[in-house]
Amino acid sequence: MDKGSTVDIMPAEHINDLLKTPVLDRDVEVRGWVYRTRSSGKIIFDVIRDATGIIQVTIKKGNLPDTEFEDALRSQIESSVIIKGRMFQDTRAPGGYEIRASSFTLVGTSAPFPITEYQSEELLLDNRHLWIRSREQQAVMKVKASLIKGARDWLDDNGFTEVTPPIFTQNACEGGVTLFKLKYFDREAYLSQSAQMYLEAMIFSLEKVYAMTPSFRAEKSRTTRHLTEFWHLELEEAWVDNKGNMEIQENLVSAMVQKVVRERKDELQLLGRNVDDLKEIVPPFKRVTYAEMIDRLKNKQFEIDFGCDLGAPEERAVTEEEKLPTFVTNFPKECKAFYMKEDPEDPRTVKCADLLAPEGYGEIIGGSERETDMDVLVAKLQRQDIPIEAYQWYLDLRRFGSVPHSGFGLGVERVVRWVCKLEHIRDAVPFPRTVSRAYP
Ligand code: ATP
Ligand code: MG
Repeated sequence: MDKGSTVDIMPAEHINDLLKTPVLDRDVEVRGWVYRTRSSGKIIFDVIRDATGIIQVTIKKGNLPDTEFEDALRSQIESSVIIKGRMFQDTRAPGGYEIRASSFTLVGTSAPFPITEYQSEELLLDNRHLWIRSREQQAVMKVKASLIKGARDWLDDNGFTEVTPPIFTQNACEGGVTLFKLKYFDREAYLSQSAQMYLEAMIFSLEKVYAMTPSFRAEKSRTTRHLTEFWHLELEEAWVDNKGNMEIQENLVSAMVQKVVRERKDELQLLGRNVDDLKEIVPPFKRVTYAEMIDRLKNKQFEIDFGCDLGAPEERAVTEEEKLPTFVTNFPKECKAFYMKEDPEDPRTVKCADLLAPEGYGEIIGGSERETDMDVLVAKLQRQDIPIEAYQWYLDLRRFGSVPHSGFGLGVERVVRWVCKLEHIRDAVPFPRTVSRAYP
């Protein structure tokens, strides 16, 4: 039975507002979902959850109409309810206060909730549409919203224009193996892996641009940091070299993290993240060359030589003890994309940087200065057997008023995973898509 549609929707208080500034001289009204419930016949102790927090509610027979007491008795976990009553201090209650109910409206009953205290990861993923009601998931989603807001605020304050690149594309940006191919009428197209090339085109009009879009990569390996659909914050800046690019990155990441520190202390605490550690995330971040990283790894008994890309175990080993993010610059050109600019000071390498989060969380940003010389680009495309036709429009950007420029892509869920101290990236997104799952 769902009486939802017959209830008058009146303004109600939010639980966290009441706990922060208790209202003791009049009745309050809260609405939400039953989070916990237990009864001893004549008295029911409920904990009610809304979008902001939880509060204890005591429902005592005689203090409200009998029919409402009966409703309270039969309401189960996740029933939706509206409660009116007086707030009283109670040191045993979560948040230090409880509401003694003078009215209980059962808005929507709940079938037995499939998620109880100890559940397998699979069951939680199958019931993701219900699990996102959990306090941890709630906290992660709020932290993520603040990170995104922190980014947008900083970018808007620093002269970037937000733009809207396409998702259907006929270019492979990050390489063929992880492309999602689809039928586009009578042709083939792909889901975008990165908006970079389109952003590059837009800097010739707007100079400093950014976009927040989903990117799609058919990642077949099961790792704790790859999704097949992730939110990608990408920037491109005209008249900026790789050094300037890194300065933008450290200022941006710091602004994102400090926004969370200001807005989401309670959520961070609930997730077990020490806020003081995040307060230290301010520029300058560390800078290390790839070659120095290889030496460090060799000292840690890794069998690795100049020329190989860094994997998760390598990244973890070199950042586990770090408190600040680290830029790794100057990767060998063989392990990076064709559009990265060769470094004239070390022509084995390109002018690029990966930003690695501290505490072993690994890469959160990949960025570089872009190659501006058309002949170099064409030669690199040919060397990598990439058909030039689909890139003619991209090469036009070098034909018509080429300028030095740089850019990068930040994986939003990678940052969420680090800031929220999550074991697996799938918990940084409400409905994760991975090689083994696109349901619910
Ligand atoms: P990795 O080596 O970890 O696969 P990448 O080198 O493929 O990363 P880029 O192509 O540089 O990554 O993409 C830019 C950023 O997008 C990365 O730094 C990361 O934060 C994020 N990212 C890339 N692939 C994924 C993915 N499958 N899931 C979530 N985030 C991703
Ligand atoms: Mg990758």
